[in-house]
Amino acid sequence: MKNILYLLCVASFINAAAQESPAPRVAPPTVIRAGTLIDGKSDKPRHDQVIVIRGNRVESVGDAAGAKIPAGATVIDLSQQTVLPGLVDSHTHIFLQGEDPAKGGYDANILTAPLAMRAARATVSARRALEQGFTTLRDVETEGAGYGDVGIKQAINAGYIPGPRLFVATRAISTTGGYPLEGYAPELEMPKGAQIADGPVETRKAAREQLDHGADWIKVYMTHRSWVGKNGELVSQPTLTVEELRAIVDEAHGWGKKVACHAYSGIGLHRALDGGCDSIEHGLDLDDAAIAQMLKQGTWYVPTLAVYYTDWSAADTPEGQRDRLRASAHEVSFKKALKAGVKIVFGTDMGGIPWTEPIAQEFSRMVEFGMQPMDAIQSATSRAAVMLDMEGKIGVVAPGAFADIIAVAGDPLRDIKALESVRFVMKDGQVFQGK
Ligand SMILES: [Zn+2]
Repeated sequence: MKNILYLLCVASFINAAAQESPAPRVAPPTVIRAGTLIDGKSDKPRHDQVIVIRGNRVESVGDAAGAKIPAGATVIDLSQQTVLPGLVDSHTHIFLQGEDPAKGGYDANILTAPLAMRAARATVSARRALEQGFTTLRDVETEGAGYGDVGIKQAINAGYIPGPRLFVATRAISTTGGYPLEGYAPELEMPKGAQIADGPVETRKAAREQLDHGADWIKVYMTHRSWVGKNGELVSQPTLTVEELRAIVDEAHGWGKKVACHAYSGIGLHRALDGGCDSIEHGLDLDDAAIAQMLKQGTWYVPTLAVYYTDWSAADTPEGQRDRLRASAHEVSFKKALKAGVKIVFGTDMGGIPWTEPIAQEFSRMVEFGMQPMDAIQSATSRAAVMLDMEGKIGVVAPGAFADIIAVAGDPLRDIKALESVRFVMKDGQVFQGK
């Protein structure tokens, strides 16, 4: 008995480590009949497929013709729908809610909301993501809510609340003068939306603290303010030095973790690449040297296009001109990166956008700027999985993968907007929504 208990303990520990809920050994299978299957990895869809799910994994995928439905199986008929793997949004903030400036905006969220209020709203955000077919999020910092994301992740994994698989970045790191809250009397010690660190000793220590407290990724702000320069170019204030960043990257890589770097343009963007960031977030103005370096180093690019089309200031103000330049430079950068073959991954900055809006709107921007719909889907499935070191486990409908499966009514290869109305959602073998 003792031995069995020990083995059970070990098994559940391994399960927890792999971010999956323990599944019974001989669960009755579930069978999905898929009218069309876009499996997340193959370049072509397949029709009339049968997906057999046992426990929380896909056991087999094959042609419906001649397929044997296992005895006792629950059959889910999606024969009139397009079935895909659960989607991955690799840039979200469940602790942000697209704060309304009229209600005090970003600052009020930190200064007046009790942490429990923020956690309650993050719980709703996580549910919203799952409802829209996003079964995995890389959530890139809590914006002043400390290690709240670690708690939400634990609550999801333990089954207390519904939500996607979370890869969390905890507090994020920037430098003095590199993050809000700002603009208060200098005598006041204001809280900041990120952990502030200066010098390689402090930045390494911040990374260690965050990794120790459960960060799956480290998020670093490599640029902060931006404005229109003398020659009409987008200028961004750099934050960390290369040495400060290298200390973080070295530490994170030692722990087997990666570093996501918010970087808009110029000096800060180049420091991000020289310092060895694993992913560039936003990358609004990628010059040719940056693109060449990203290709050479295998850097991921998470552009987050749609968010830069929201909340523009008036056209005749410096902020308004900057907002328009950000969007126009971004379009050029995205097109150049796409043409050059940079590894582009789907991300939205949800939270910057209210969670009431469709997450999948980002797909439309990507396709509008020249990405093939299948490529856009893979940026939110199998390619994201590789970035997250989850290749073959998420972002694909194939034997051995977690049963994270969604369905939409239309054909997203003809109209990418079909992904904005997800009807069926299964996560980890459990139906969350639909049949
Ligand atoms: Zn963000």
